[in-house]
Amino acid sequence: MNFPEKLEDFRCVTAFTPTVCTLIGARIPAQCEDTPLDAVIAEAEKKLNGEKVEKMLIFAPDACGIHLWERYPEKLAKVEAVAPLRVPTKVVMPSVTPVCFASMYTGATPAIHGIQKYERPILTVETIFNTFPEAKKKTGICAVNQCSIDLIFRKRPVTYCSTRSDAEAVKFSHFLMQDPAFDVVLNYATDYDHIMHATGPFADEAIGALDRNIAAFQQFSAWIDEYWGGYNRLLVWCPDHGAHESSPGRGSHGTDMPEDLLVYHFYSIRAKNK
Ligand SMILES: [Zn+2]
Repeated sequence: MNFPEKLEDFRCVTAFTPTVCTLIGARIPAQCEDTPLDAVIAEAEKKLNGEKVEKMLIFAPDACGIHLWERYPEKLAKVEAVAPLRVPTKVVMPSVTPVCFASMYTGATPAIHGIQKYERPILTVETIFNTFPEAKKKTGICAVNQCSIDLIFRKRPVTYCSTRSDAEAVKFSHFLMQDPAFDVVLNYATDYDHIMHATGPFADEAIGALDRNIAAFQQFSAWIDEYWGGYNRLLVWCPDHGAHESSPGRGSHGTDMPEDLLVYHFYSIRAKNK
């Protein structure tokens, strides 16, 4: 797998939480072990003249890691056209969904947040879904029923939209964005991961799901301008891990190979319309 960044330039996925907390002015969760991403904070400083982000759309496409971008540069270009600030990110081990999303939204490594294998208990440590509401940032999570994100972040003061499909999750996210009361929406997309396990990461069916994720991301880009144009806003693409072809026609992840562990997160920070 080829990519232009050096391995030492990849930041741990735990940097996500202190970054978004700093951007929006929320307390960093107590168990967070990382520091904000300098490149993102510098971009916000430049775009927002020291003001905070007020609205945030977090798009979390499961398993859409770097393994995809070398093969499909035209798809990478579409994502970067929406969110040009690319953050090389290394996820945590084992590189499976609940372990990685727990680290992403707590800022803590697995030994600290407690999910160290494929299991899906409700997290007991603090998450952004605790500290965003504490900062009066009304937050919604839109994700398919019984997926990791639908389960491990429960018992927080946020609005849970538990859906029957990725398309429905996008509809609910769209609904929340139109309600001025909501400040932060997390939209999760499961299809690429779900399909690639059965078909392999580069099969037509899996790439169809990637294309739907990119289309949704473009749609969210348009919606944050349409509904949140009067606010300083952030759009971010943040997958939990990548994937590799485990045998012909099958996909997997969970190992420390670069295909599983390395992803790009993409940020777009936009100033409110004057
Ligand atoms: Zn996953």
